[in-house]
Amino acid sequence: PERLEGVDRGSTIRLPEEAAHHVARVVRLREGELIAVTDGGGRSFLVRLRRVDARAVEGEVLGPEYPEGDGRDPEASVAVDLAFALLKGDRSETVLALATEIGVRRYRPFLSTRTVVRPEGEARRRREERFRAVVREAVELSGRTHLPPVEPIASFADVLASFPSYAAVFVPYELAAAAHGGVYPHLLEVYRALPPRAFRGPLLLVVGPEGGFAPEEAEAAQHAGAHLVSLGPRILRAETAAVYAVSLLLGEEAF
Ligand code: SAM
Repeated sequence: PERLEGVDRGSTIRLPEEAAHHVARVVRLREGELIAVTDGGGRSFLVRLRRVDARAVEGEVLGPEYPEGDGRDPEASVAVDLAFALLKGDRSETVLALATEIGVRRYRPFLSTRTVVRPEGEARRRREERFRAVVREAVELSGRTHLPPVEPIASFADVLASFPSYAAVFVPYELAAAAHGGVYPHLLEVYRALPPRAFRGPLLLVVGPEGGFAPEEAEAAQHAGAHLVSLGPRILRAETAAVYAVSLLLGEEAF
């Protein structure tokens, strides 16, 4: 279309400060080169750089990066949200970076009974900021057009309360691993038994902290409608579990 919902073909756009810095100083592009610019809301445009200097980076909008229906839009056709218990050190950031590349739609960080790190006040706000910065970086790196929102750090009860807005909720539960008796079905088995994709709404994965979920949390999740599932016979570290589970769900869409 000639008019791209607020951005006209041929119009000039000026990059925000951080993106301008990236173009001019980090990757050092020049006038005349092409870049893709996304609004983070699912739209992206091809832009030819017209001005690159210390004060501003501007370019001319050539058109949509992915003309409608050309099948190249990198966003996943399955909406997978990830709720994850905060992890020690920078492990939450590792999960956010990798899961964003793989295609997660939205994040819900939470604190559960066995969560070790529990930032409060200013530290909490800074952590959330850091989470958002990591996700933005991964979006740029992977060429996505949707910037997954990171919700404020919530309680496990808040995560439970969000279950009704999902078509299915999966809680990988360590008691599902063989070491603990393997009593729950595998994530893929449950996922594949859902109704056909066309009738599926968004999916939620809920991964616990280093020490796992307390039995009463798993019970509450099941009571609220979640599927308690296995990720296989071996116990995975929390960050591995999150990335592996996300990969399984989003990997299915390729086929
Ligand atoms: N401390 C727990 C134990 O020894 O049983 C392990 C917790 S695990 C490191 C952290 C999280 O990863 C769990 O809450 C769960 O969500 C997930 N997880 C790891 N391995 C899993 C598996 N084999 N099946 C299901 N969930 C798993």
